[in-house]
Amino acid sequence: MKPHRVRMTHSLVLHYGLYNQMDCFRPRRAEAEDMCKFHSEDYVAFLKTVTQDKEAELRSELETYNLLEDCPVFDGLWRYCSIYAGGSIGAAVKLNYGTADIAINWAGGLHHGKKAEASGFCYINDIVLAILELLKYHQRVLYIDIDVHHGDGVEEAFLTTDRVMTLSLHKFGGGFFPSTGDIVNIGHGRGRHYAVNAPLKDGITDEAYQSLFRPVVAKIMEVYRPEVVVLQCGSDSLAGDRLGVFNISSNGHAACVEYVKSFGLPMMLLGGGGYKIINVARCWAKETGVALGIDMEDSLPVSEYDDYYAPKYRLTVEPVESLTDQNSKEYLEELRNKILQYLSQVTPAPSVAFHERAPDAMSEDDMITEQPYVGPSSPRGGGARRGPTQRLWGGGGGGGGGLQGAAAERDAEDQEGAAFERQFGGNRVRMDISYKDQYYANDDEGHDQGHPASPTHRGIHAQGGVRSPRPAILRPPSMQEDNSLDG
Ligand code: MN
Repeated sequence: MKPHRVRMTHSLVLHYGLYNQMDCFRPRRAEAEDMCKFHSEDYVAFLKTVTQDKEAELRSELETYNLLEDCPVFDGLWRYCSIYAGGSIGAAVKLNYGTADIAINWAGGLHHGKKAEASGFCYINDIVLAILELLKYHQRVLYIDIDVHHGDGVEEAFLTTDRVMTLSLHKFGGGFFPSTGDIVNIGHGRGRHYAVNAPLKDGITDEAYQSLFRPVVAKIMEVYRPEVVVLQCGSDSLAGDRLGVFNISSNGHAACVEYVKSFGLPMMLLGGGGYKIINVARCWAKETGVALGIDMEDSLPVSEYDDYYAPKYRLTVEPVESLTDQNSKEYLEELRNKILQYLSQVTPAPSVAFHERAPDAMSEDDMITEQPYVGPSSPRGGGARRGPTQRLWGGGGGGGGGLQGAAAERDAEDQEGAAFERQFGGNRVRMDISYKDQYYANDDEGHDQGHPASPTHRGIHAQGGVRSPRPAILRPPSMQEDNSLDG
């Protein structure tokens, strides 16, 4: 199972030389037990055992768990889930220990996953699992979601608690998936006013987006005073996305990361949506650079995916000029005022009584430290371009085995992708175009072990800046008490 866009992101991270500026870890995969901290046992057990060939006989269960259409069962599904979920849980553990200030898992961010149901190509909700882990050490967690879709799974999980504030900016209206997240949805019970939604219309620009994002985030920081931030960086909010409808440039997208980082809190960066793979890779590479405080050349370094970036070979994703912003100044102002008014009703910095802390999901021993990448960096020099077949995954001491020429690898991937597309491409689904770009079915256990630098199976943890003192020991809210929907 190789999410192609994550590999492309990682390739840019390598070739920009960012990989050497951070600590990289491969946490253990999440087990069923880890996932059941949020998800129901029957759903997790089903995910673990279901196979494609059982589709006919398991029809009713597949319907129950919504494992049809948008969320098909595919070869390697369990492995895929356990890898990306393990990455986010491991990232939370790193932030809890204070051994990273910013933890990144571009393979995570699957915000639509529900307690007992898949949704919008999200199966296991790694974000909820990561936040639950953070709540063991932090009193208040701020979750920010800049994906073009509403972060419904995360909001729903923490709808009735004040220990997590969720902020989602998303396209809303006209039946746009998942059709939730109107401004009036602000949480329930103890969680009332701790869910914040900014419903937006098509074509929003960098400037308009920031005119909302900055004052709202600043106000949340002021009234809520979170101890840690989880930022879901879904890149389907970028201009030109094939599912998204916004008109944000990669600079505008990265400005959100930069702004949140400026508050100096421990931060987790996660991926999410993104359906134009070259833009996904460029955006997340850029945001890795923002996390590290590194100014990146707009001219892309040579990589094995070079052909994808032709003819411009630029890092920046530009806005689409022909698109009109349907969010009027008046609309945005009203939205901002309404949200700020809601936030003024938030009890400042709710704190919780001290409890016995639940055991950590992982220890440092569960994370393999990756060797720094020792290959050459690959600047794009004066027209002399290297061919696209150079080897790039040479890190990890060279003993990994399975290193292939990039061209052969691409061919194999293209075949896998084509097979996958044949299988799912005909589905009448909202997110069908994501399949062929994002996911490649591959049940070859250990296949990607040959790529020690591949982020598809572990979080990348960037370290730098000032470390915050170890926070008080806390117990996460009980899922039964706090996280059920009360209507
Ligand atoms: Mn999305």
